[in-house]
Amino acid sequence: MIQQNRLVAEFVELVQIDSETTKEQEISRILKEKFTSLGLTVQEDDSSERTGHGSNNLFFTLPATEGVSVPKLFFTSHMDTVTPGAGIKPQIGDDGYIRSDGTTILGADDKAGIAAMLEAIRVLKENNLPHGQIQFVITAGEEAGLKGSRAMDPKWMDADFGYALDSNGDIGDIAVAAPTQAKIHITFWGRSAHAGVNPEAGISAITVASRAVSKMPLGRVDNETTANIGRFAGGVEGATNIVVDRVTLEAEARSIVNEKMYAQVEAMKQACEQTAADAGAKVEFKSEVIYPAYMYDETAPVVKLAMQALEKAGCTPRTFHSGGGSDANMFNGFGIPTVNLAIGYIDIHTTQERIKISDMVKSTEVVLSIVQQVAQG
Ligand code: ZN
Ligand code: CA
Repeated sequence: MIQQNRLVAEFVELVQIDSETTKEQEISRILKEKFTSLGLTVQEDDSSERTGHGSNNLFFTLPATEGVSVPKLFFTSHMDTVTPGAGIKPQIGDDGYIRSDGTTILGADDKAGIAAMLEAIRVLKENNLPHGQIQFVITAGEEAGLKGSRAMDPKWMDADFGYALDSNGDIGDIAVAAPTQAKIHITFWGRSAHAGVNPEAGISAITVASRAVSKMPLGRVDNETTANIGRFAGGVEGATNIVVDRVTLEAEARSIVNEKMYAQVEAMKQACEQTAADAGAKVEFKSEVIYPAYMYDETAPVVKLAMQALEKAGCTPRTFHSGGGSDANMFNGFGIPTVNLAIGYIDIHTTQERIKISDMVKSTEVVLSIVQQVAQG
């Protein structure tokens, strides 16, 4: 059913199409050709107007087989890569691995996911396998901080639940949880004065800000929450004679539980506002949720179905909690249950990136197995 040579050829072709993040123009055009030539409909949002990336997010739909009425499924991968990702020359090794020539990444992150989708669609068509509606969502700008999915217009999403094909780990590993992250910008204003002549007239923004930071819970706040001050800037180099009137801080907070992240941000804000008020200083505290958390256990339907499908495909399911966000976070934020499946890539974001051909075949089997599990209702 799965044709390994065709799958490998597709993958090798995809990774040779340069698509470093922001430069997604060409891969976008070719993906539209490939999916539409397989009979899928294509839609795209207008996210590139907001992201400045080379492509919108793409939504390809495979309509349900006549008479099959089951929940709507989606799979997602991203079309962009990290750098150095121009002029990739994939090498097929005697050991069954595909690598780059060592001067670039390979781009299996995430072209391996796209290749598995295309092969699965071909197998479904050739064998007339019944299936429900399946949407294939290919995002741009994932590697630039989930830019595409963060700017996505969710009105194009037409799915009840789904799977991201973009996790590290062994085939069978399911990222059932991932943290939320907030980015925080803080500015303290004091009052400048000559530090030697008239220090009483000044309010040191540095003193106030450092006092506020010392009152914040930071580091590993609890087993589900972390926070960090990443930048603390103020003053003028060499100017020790000025009481500094302005300090800016950049910080982050993460938690696997949305409420805990909000509580952490609030604690940091309180520390800033109280300290500033006590000192007669001013503070502006801005926070932005970059992506929301998600967390499922093995009783969640989206997880259960994946585990059953993995077993049927001869893989060993294993659930784990991811330490970082991915597009799956955004889809969960849209209210569409999504978990992230490992597809076998190794050492991504390095020139040692590689993938085993047999794992690419397994990923395709997993996609097909999920489709069939859903079709059986
Ligand atoms: Zn990826
Ligand atoms: Ca990546």
